Amino acid sequence: MSDLVRRDREVIWHPYTQHGIEAEPLPVRSAHGAVLVLEDGREIIDGISSWWTCLHGHGRPEIVAAMRAQAETLDHVLFAGATHEPAVELAERLVAAAPKGLSRAFYTDNGSTAVEVALKIAFQAHLQRGAPDRRTFVALEGGYHGDTFGAMAVGDPDPFFRAFEPLLFRVERSAPDADSLARTLDALGARCAGVIIEPLVQGAGGMRMHEPAFVAAVRELCDRHAIPMIADEVMTGFGRTGKLFACDHADVRPDLLCLAKGLTGGMHPLAATLATEDLFDAFRSSDRSRALFHGHSFTANPIGCAAALASLAIVQSEDVPAKLERIGAIIEAELRRHLAGDARARNLRRTGGIVAFDVDSSTPGYLSGDPRALRRSALENGVLLRPLGHVVYAMPPACTSAEQCRKVAHAMIGMLSAE
Ligand code: PMP
Repeated sequence: MSDLVRRDREVIWHPYTQHGIEAEPLPVRSAHGAVLVLEDGREIIDGISSWWTCLHGHGRPEIVAAMRAQAETLDHVLFAGATHEPAVELAERLVAAAPKGLSRAFYTDNGSTAVEVALKIAFQAHLQRGAPDRRTFVALEGGYHGDTFGAMAVGDPDPFFRAFEPLLFRVERSAPDADSLARTLDALGARCAGVIIEPLVQGAGGMRMHEPAFVAAVRELCDRHAIPMIADEVMTGFGRTGKLFACDHADVRPDLLCLAKGLTGGMHPLAATLATEDLFDAFRSSDRSRALFHGHSFTANPIGCAAALASLAIVQSEDVPAKLERIGAIIEAELRRHLAGDARARNLRRTGGIVAFDVDSSTPGYLSGDPRALRRSALENGVLLRPLGHVVYAMPPACTSAEQCRKVAHAMIGMLSAE
């Protein structure tokens, strides 16, 4: 055990970690491109983009330079009653890049809070328009939207949030199909506050993929019921699905769009919730009590905004969605070649740069099996992967080479024989 790991064990409480049984954490010294460099000099491919954040690759020089320059100019300033160039320019660029009709950006720090704000905007807008009974959100089975209380409430309680259920507000859950959603909305009628989905790919719930037609159906149903559609593109945003936003596959404009993770290329915590002018107008008033009472200390942090501007410029100039699509296709092709007829791997699927299969298991689910053996096997093959229960997946950054992609695929295959 290295000195770093020994000290870690004395003082750190890690996320999503059962400290009673978990293996030692990986001591990571540095990172560049698609690789993490460990303390002992070993290089490991970041096969899941460090929890889906690292969009281009680690240490992208243009983003580092933008963050450095910004830190030297304006490190931070409160964002109530003050403004600054990086926040305004980023909002202008996001509004221009997002589906047409989203005109306002509200900044927070992470995906969970981007979702919290979307839920608060939707609910308070109803309240201020005289519809206080519209307070039940509809979310999807298998959905995941973050770990704060509102985000947990709209997430599927299984497998993560059962323990907190008594503290969560009530949410109606629908299967991810148009008929089921239509029935749920009809039953709720004028009590419905809005619908939240992860368009095209439900991430933490097990990389469950659906067709663009379903996203279009959600939009239609929200229109029919005159309720806001919330698209949580915290994972799918910025090219992961092969287009800039997953909603673009269905030519859909949500009323609220949640962005985080890849917003800064994964180099700084920052999130944005984009909203329509119509929702913004529900708050505009001479009455101070009708303002949106939400704001974090680091709202619109200038260094984060500068990182996001540099990242978005790369996304657009290098066609990152197309790059990620190619990377996904290479991994998928390698998996198909080697897994054809292998009954241990089921439901091989891909959307853009996200590739997944299910390990045939008698007890499917997040807490099934022992992920430690699977992770260890991937590491022995030089790749960092973290299966979601019986779901093995990869989502590497856009700079991953064809050879590295094949290595990722072989690490995924190796997991099938892990013990
Ligand atoms: N929404 C989705 C779709 C996510 O995948 C995640 C994170 N995995 C979140 C929200 C929460 O983001 P964060 O971890 O940055 O709070």
